This record gives sequence, C-alpha cells and structure tokens, in this order.
Amino acid sequence: MKKTRQSRRENEKGLIIIGGGMVGLTLACALKDTGLKITVVERTEAEPRMSLKRDCRVSAIVAGTVGILGGIGVWPYVKDKAGSIDSMRIWDNQRFGSIRFEAEEAGLDTLGYIVENSILLSAMLEVVHASENIEWCCPASVESVQWKASCVEVSLDDGRVLTTPLIVGADGGRSWLRSQAHIPTWSHRFEQQGIVATIQPQLSHRNCAYQRFLPTGPLAFLPLTDGLCSIVWSAQDTEADRLMALSDVAFLNELQLALGPVMGKLEQAGARAAFPLRSQLSRHIVRPRMALIGDAAHQVHPLAGLGVNLGIRDAMVLAQEIVDARHFEEDYGSLDVLNRFMHSRMPDILAVMGGMEAFNYLFTHDVPGLALLRDAGMRVVGNSGPVKRMLMRRAMGLTLPVPKQVS
Ligand SMILES: Cc1cc2nc3c(=O)[nH]c(=O)nc-3n(C[C@H](O)[C@H](O)[C@H](O)COP(=O)(O)OP(=O)(O)OC[C@H]3O[C@@H](n4cnc5c(N)ncnc54)[C@H](O)[C@@H]3O)c2cc1C
Repeated sequence: MKKTRQSRRENEKGLIIIGGGMVGLTLACALKDTGLKITVVERTEAEPRMSLKRDCRVSAIVAGTVGILGGIGVWPYVKDKAGSIDSMRIWDNQRFGSIRFEAEEAGLDTLGYIVENSILLSAMLEVVHASENIEWCCPASVESVQWKASCVEVSLDDGRVLTTPLIVGADGGRSWLRSQAHIPTWSHRFEQQGIVATIQPQLSHRNCAYQRFLPTGPLAFLPLTDGLCSIVWSAQDTEADRLMALSDVAFLNELQLALGPVMGKLEQAGARAAFPLRSQLSRHIVRPRMALIGDAAHQVHPLAGLGVNLGIRDAMVLAQEIVDARHFEEDYGSLDVLNRFMHSRMPDILAVMGGMEAFNYLFTHDVPGLALLRDAGMRVVGNSGPVKRMLMRRAMGLTLPVPKQVS
C-alpha cells in the first residue's frame, strides 16, 4: 500500500524546528549527519533590506563562532564575503580616552568577522538543501501544537500533521512557540532603537571595529569588505526617530559629528532601518519535549554584537545533548536531557545578558560615582595585559567549552 507523506513522517523519530533564522538553521546543519530527520518550518522567505547594495542587517561573528560555523560546513560559503575584524577601538565622548583591542594581543589572527545576515542565511541554506535529512518547509507555518506524553503533534498550514519527540522554538524574540507553551518572559525595553545602514567612508577602516559611547547610546562602525562600513547607532527613542527622519545629507553630518574624524569624511550613507532594542529572557527555556534557542530564549543589547553568537552556541549545545542522549538510548525530548542543555547554557546566557545591561547602563547614565567607576574600570582593562586578554578571549567565545563535533 502506498504510504502518504503524512503517515510516513508520523512514524519517524525526528526533530521539528520552528524558525529558519540563523539559529534554527545552525541546529539543523549541526544535526544533518546524525540520521535524524529534521523539519525546519519557516514562515517567510527572507528578503534583505539593502543599503548601498549590502544587507543593512549584519552580525559580528566572533572567532569562537567562526570555528563552529566551519565545523558544520557553513563558513566556506561565507569567508570571502566577510569583513575581518583585526582590532577594535572603544572610546566615549567624555573622559576616559580610548581602549584598543588587537587580535594579536589575544594570540589570534582575527577577532572575528562582520557578515551580512542574508549571506550567512544563504550559506546555511546551501548546507540544508544539500542534506537529505533536512526538510525545509518555507513559506509555511504551524497552525497548532499539542503536547502529548510521548510526543508533540504539530499541524502545518499545508494540512500535514507531524509528530516528533522534540520541538525546538528558534522563532525569534516574539516566539510563537513560547507563547503557545504559556511561558512568560522577563523583559526590559531599553527605550532605544538601533539604526543600521551601510556607510562609505573616505579613509580605510583598516579592519578596525569602532565603538563610541555617546550619552544617548553606543555607535558602532563595523568593517565590511570593499572599504564599506556598517553602522549600528543605538539612540533613545525620540533621538532615533529624529535621526531616521533626516535627509541622507543631514544624517551623514550628524553621523560625522558623532563619530569624529577617525575615518575622514563620511561620503555616502545607504538606506537606514531602525529596530527597537530590548533585553529579554524566557522564564523557562525547556519544557518536556520543547526547547527554546536563540532570541526565542534570550535577547541582548546589540552593543557588543553577541546575540546571534549566543544563539549559535545554544544550537550547538542542544545538538550535542541530542546526540549524546541517542547514543545512550535516552529519550532526547525528555526533561532530564533538556535540563542538561539548560544547565550548560544558563551561565553563558546570564553572563552575556548581565554584561550588556551593565555596559549600556554605565555609559548612558552620567551619575558622578558611575562615571568614576567606568573610567577606573576602563583604565584597569586598558593597562592590564592579562585582564584585557582574558576579556577578549571571553568575548570571542574562546573560553567556553567547545561542543564536540556532532555526528
Ligand atoms: C540592530 C541589531 C544589530 C545586531 N547585531 C548583532 C551582531 O553584530 N552580532 C550578533 O551576534 N547579534 C546581533 N544582533 C542580534 C541578532 O540579530 C539576533 O540575536 C539574531 O537574529 C537571532 O537569531 P534567531 O535565529 O534566534 O532569531 P531571528 O533572526 O529572529 O529568526 C527567527 C526566524 O523565525 C521565523 N519565525 C518567527 N515566527 C515563526 C512562526 N510562527 N513559524 C515559522 N517561522 C517563524 C522568522 O521568520 C525568522 O526567520 C543584532 C540585533 C539587532 C536588533
């Protein structure tokens, strides 16, 4: 008898991932050779918003994450299109002067890369499409999800009903799956927006990422290929609205004043887009037969460019726990297994979230005691080689346990 697609899949032991963004696709790529049947449900085919012919959304991919993306076969598709970060300069417009981090000081060739999000997603999709074990359902969405004792039943909008021992929510900060599971969040809106755009400066960026802390929020200039830069200008809501409403010429003038002369004259600005910024943590990142990863589990301020790096580490640790559980014939959707994932991820998640909150607070509140603390802290970091090296290696994700190669 000919089996229908629906009944075939119902018998499979697999995994369903809701959300085919950078984090959901990392999980799929990490598990592609494990024999598991993976279904990724993505509701939209992403259309990048272009700015001077570049995706206006970029991500700083730190050195540790580059290693992960290499291990899952994604990095070869990205490396020639990514701007290397060989150094980083941080300064404020008040007192402490500036601090510089060089890749060499941490014994590295590079601190990381700036990658357009659409390039990273296309690279991941190359790997996904080349795998027989991954089904890419896009555009598609889930109509309902029902938790049962031994499985989760998922109804798709194409009429199919899939069952799985484990469903993973990688569906972003407003996670649909998280709300279906009635999981609340701790959420803090910064009352800031991040303005992004591509900029053509007069002088070479020399592969340096610049970050200037302004009283209204941090401004980052990130090195792309071909001498272009991508900016993330975080500003309080009213200021961000004002900056977004300016003409290109007026915006460039304001940007020039905010950055100063480090890159000569800023010659051209591409189309701008603005994103509200928040810090958010899901009160539970696991439930029986469900795990949340990436922004569905946590969102952080983009000032250090760590959000997707954190999510990619979630995906890799979850992949490793699934593989280990199968090796020992454990039920990988069980709470015991998922709790192991949760326990190994929370220290990293809380450290990055706490660090970003503290940094943003320290630099946007001009209370005298705080300003002294900030200046003293920056001087200690700037003048102490070991502290600086330790901070750099931590920020690059190099001090964390590396998930074993999943296979
Ligand atoms: C201005 C700005 C700059 C940033 N810069 C950096 C940086 O330099 N470095 C860094 O590490 N991080 C950065 N981040 C953070 C980073 O963008 C996020 O952490 C990252 O995009 C999270 O990836 P994700 O896959 O978890 O979620 P998302 O990118 O939000 O992807 C979720 C996916 O799920 C899909 N989806 C949603 N609901 C459903 C549903 N019901 N059914 C099916 N599919 C669904 C969506 O269409 C989407 O494709 C920045 C963020 C901002 C706002």
